[in-house]
Amino acid sequence: MLTTSVRALRLPGHALRARAAPVDFDATSRELRASLAGGLAAALVRGPVGAGLAAPMLGVGLRVIIDAAEGPATAMFNPRIEETSGRMVAGEEGNLCLPGVRAEVRRAQTVTVSWQTLAGQDRTETFHDWHARVLQHEIEILDGRLFLDHEGVQPLGTMPMPDAQAERAAALLFGELEPERRRAEPVSVATFDPQLWQLDPIVVRPPSAPGIELDPKFLRALAYGLFREQYERGGVGLAAPQVGLGLRIAAIDDREHVPVLLRDPEILDRSDETEIGPEGCLSLPGWRGPVERHVAIKVRNHTVEGEPIELEFEGYQARIVQHEMDHLDGVLFTDRMAPDAELAPYSGPPREEQAVAEVLRDAAAPPPARTKPKRRR
Ligand code: ZN
Repeated sequence: MLTTSVRALRLPGHALRARAAPVDFDATSRELRASLAGGLAAALVRGPVGAGLAAPMLGVGLRVIIDAAEGPATAMFNPRIEETSGRMVAGEEGNLCLPGVRAEVRRAQTVTVSWQTLAGQDRTETFHDWHARVLQHEIEILDGRLFLDHEGVQPLGTMPMPDAQAERAAALLFGELEPERRRAEPVSVATFDPQLWQLDPIVVRPPSAPGIELDPKFLRALAYGLFREQYERGGVGLAAPQVGLGLRIAAIDDREHVPVLLRDPEILDRSDETEIGPEGCLSLPGWRGPVERHVAIKVRNHTVEGEPIELEFEGYQARIVQHEMDHLDGVLFTDRMAPDAELAPYSGPPREEQAVAEVLRDAAAPPPARTKPKRRR
């Protein structure tokens, strides 16, 4: 599930603002549609609450919703509101993508919806009250419109406690922060099956233009959120497009060097020497493949204040930087694999084992040094 904040939704290129494309029943296999509907339904069940879900909420820009307002859950492909009637009724709404945000929204009491089933049959039905509300709420998401675009948004709730590692990364990058400034943006990575990633309407590949003006407070909170999300999932890097943001920003921590925040990065120089090594991606959990990368790179990066800074990376860290920079251009490591190379299923160490290993490593390591990554003059 892509989670986000009200302020992030105002940024250009946000995945939840994209208009979803119709599902072409001639161009998609039934298997692919079933995989998509199944993934949406599973995400809905995993979520804290939820009577419905629209595909863009998971990073897929296709016109599909899951309706679980009453009775068995139904996948509606290409749903359309044919008619609304009855009086306008106010009711409180929220969205799984906007934790803690609620709003009172006025909706028509009765709605007639037409859609296609997974198998391609046409259906038209009329819904009332709560069910009508849920369907209006989900269908408008397909046009990049959210419930809080209606009148009377009342943000409620509090941010969850940040992860200790994210706190450390933020402190190393920005210095010690006052408690009230340690606020993480609520972000979460959208995950896909490799075959789904081949679809064009993956909305976590937004065009990410460089030089977008960002409030430094927002940037810190976003970095914090990106680090926290990657630590939670055992990753070593996470780029803004993976969480639905059209920004050229990525958070990297190879667990050996000081964490790095890439901002509008640009490769200045690459080593001739390359190396083939295994890569995985938080967007495609459970899969690995061999990718050829430059052994060393020189990058022009930008600080939180927007000052240009040159950084040099080599080995594993250089690989991560190249992988994350690819995300900023909508390129996935699978796109970089040799034609004859194959994706292989992969399962990392169980979370408990990983936690124990991390605790033991921290016990043996010296206190974190206040050094910056290598840079040239
Ligand atoms: Zn990745």
